[in-house]
Amino acid sequence: MTIDGRVSKFGSEKGSETRLHARPVSRGVAVGKVVTIHGDNKQFYRTPIRPEQVDREIARYRAAHTAAARQLTNVGHTLEYSSNSAAIFDMHRAILEDSSLSEKIESVIAGERINAEWAVKLVTDEYIARYQALTDEHFRDRYIDVEDIADQLQTALGGKRHSIRIPRGSIIAAAEIRPSTIAELGSQHLGGIITESGGWTSHSFILARELDIPAVTGVQRLLRRVRTGDVVLLDGFDGTVFLNPDDSTVEAIKATRRPGRRRSADEPPLGDTTQTLDGREIKIRANFDIAASFHHAKDLGARGIGLFRSEYLFNRFKGFPGEAEQIKAYREIGDYAGADRARIRTFDLSLSQIVERSERRDKNPALGLRGVRLSLTHQKHFRTQIRALLQASVDREIDVIIPMVSGVDEVRAVRSIVDEESESLIKRGTEIGSPRLGAMIELPASVFSIDQLLEELDCICIGTNDLVQYTLGVDRDNESVANWFRSLHPSVLEALKRVIEAAAKKDIPAVVCGEMAGSPFYVPILLGLGATELSMNVNSITRVRRVITGVAFEETRELRDRVLACSTVESVESTALQFVEERWGHLFETELLGGFKAPVTT
Ligand code: PEP
Ligand code: MG
Repeated sequence: MTIDGRVSKFGSEKGSETRLHARPVSRGVAVGKVVTIHGDNKQFYRTPIRPEQVDREIARYRAAHTAAARQLTNVGHTLEYSSNSAAIFDMHRAILEDSSLSEKIESVIAGERINAEWAVKLVTDEYIARYQALTDEHFRDRYIDVEDIADQLQTALGGKRHSIRIPRGSIIAAAEIRPSTIAELGSQHLGGIITESGGWTSHSFILARELDIPAVTGVQRLLRRVRTGDVVLLDGFDGTVFLNPDDSTVEAIKATRRPGRRRSADEPPLGDTTQTLDGREIKIRANFDIAASFHHAKDLGARGIGLFRSEYLFNRFKGFPGEAEQIKAYREIGDYAGADRARIRTFDLSLSQIVERSERRDKNPALGLRGVRLSLTHQKHFRTQIRALLQASVDREIDVIIPMVSGVDEVRAVRSIVDEESESLIKRGTEIGSPRLGAMIELPASVFSIDQLLEELDCICIGTNDLVQYTLGVDRDNESVANWFRSLHPSVLEALKRVIEAAAKKDIPAVVCGEMAGSPFYVPILLGLGATELSMNVNSITRVRRVITGVAFEETRELRDRVLACSTVESVESTALQFVEERWGHLFETELLGGFKAPVTT
C-alpha cells in the first residue's frame, strides 16, 4: 500500500527520537511503521484501489451520499417540533448537498486512487481546518457541523467496503480501537497497537493479549503526533512509545525485554490437572474468543470452555449470524470442549453495536440497552440464538450463559423463552438437547441477589471485568479513569467472597472468567476466596498454572484473611504485594494489571 506522510526508516537520524508515555495493556515489544486508523463506529484506513475500481468506488460514494442525505431529511422531519434543531439539520443537508464537496471527494478518489472513506476524510479534514482557522467564533464553530457530516458519510459507507490489507508488522495508531478491527487485522500479523483511549479490560485489549499483539494506551493527541509511515518503537512492558527511535534504543529495548519467563530445566512439567501444593484441584478453563486458540489452550492444560463471547461471531459473519450458521458454530465449540463443557454466553451487545443511526444510540452504552436487556427487548435475534443453542446441545455439554443479569426476573424471562422455543422445535419434529442455564454475575445487583439467583440457575460465571466496572462506577474502556479501576478494591473482594461462598454452599459450579482469573498476581487471592474454576485466554494459562502449582491453599487462605481485613484499596494492594513477594516472589513475572502495576519479577 502507498503510505501518506513522511516515510522514515528504522532507526532515525540521531536526535529526532521522542518519547511518549502510555499505559501498557498487552506485553511485548514492537518496532515498525505506523498505519493510522480513523472512524468511530466503523473504522477505516487508507486503502489504495486499482484504476478499474475507481468507477465502482465513486458509485459507492454516491450511494452513501444519497443515504446520508435521506437520513438527514428523516431526522429533520422527526425534529419538526423544534425549529432550532430542524434548522441545524437543514444546514447539514445544505453542506452535504453543496456540489463542490462531492466533486472534491470524487476527484480525490479518482486522482489519488484511494477508498471513499479516506477521500471523505481528506476533504472534510481540509474544510474543518479552514473553519477552525477563522477568527469569527460563530463561523469557526461550523467545523463541528462538517465533522458531523463526515461522520454521517462514513457511517453510510460502512456497509460494504474493501477488505483491508496492511503491511505485515504495521503498528496501528487510533483514538480508540474496536474489537472487530483487531479481529479483522489480527490475522494480518499486526506488529502492535497504540491508542489514545481504552482500558486493561476493554475487549480490544483482551483480544490483543489473546493474539499476542503488544499494545499500549493513553497517548494523548496521538493522531496529531503520528502519521501513517512514521516509525515507532512500542514497549508493551512499561508503556513507553518512541517516535523515530534511535538504533541504539531499538537494540537496548529489544535486548532487555524478553517475552515471559522461561521454564528452567529442573522445573517439573505441568501435568494434566492443576493442583495447589497441598492438593486442592483447580479447574483451568479457556476463554475462547478465537477458534485457533482453543487447540493450543487444550494442549496447555485447559479443560473446557469457561466463556465463549458469542457476539464475536459478528466479526466472522459481519452482523447477526443466521440460525444454521450459529448451530454449526456452537456444535464446533461443544465438540472442542467435550465432556468438560462449553459455556456459551448469549449476545452481550449494546445498542450502538447493532444500529447504524447515531440518534438511536444510547448515551451511556454500559448502562443502556445492553446484554440480556437488549435480547429481551428485541427478541427476534435472541430467539434465533436460543433455537440454535437448543439444537447444538444435542449430544453436547453446553451451558447457556445470560449476560448482565440483575435479578431473578430476567432469568425467568429467559427460561420461558427457552421453554417456548423448545416446544415449537419439538412440535416441528426438530431434535433438541437440554443445555444448562447460567448467568454472568457481574452487576452489584446480582451479587446482592445471589442466593435467589442460585435457586434458579445451574451454574454461574463471575465476570470480574464488569463487576469491577459497576461496583466502582468506573468505565472499563476509559483510560482517563484507569487509576480508579482497582480490581482489589475491598468492595470487589467482598462481592467475590459473597458470590463464591454462596455458590459453594449450594454446590453450584462457579467459574471466574474476567481478566482477574488470567492474571497470576490475582490468582492466589481468588483461590483464597474459594475459587476452584478459573477461565482465561490462552496466553495466561501456563503462567497461571505455574502459580497455582507453586502455592499452598492454606497459604492463600492466610492471604485472603489479611486482605479482607484491609479497609482501603491501597492497603489491600500493598498487603498482597508484600505477601506475594515474601512467599512466592520466585513464581511471578512483571505484570500488567490495569490501574495497578505489580512490580513483581522473577
Ligand atoms: C466480564 O465482564 O468480566 C466478562 C468476562 O465479560 P466481558 O469482558 O465480555 O464483559
Ligand atoms: Mg461482562
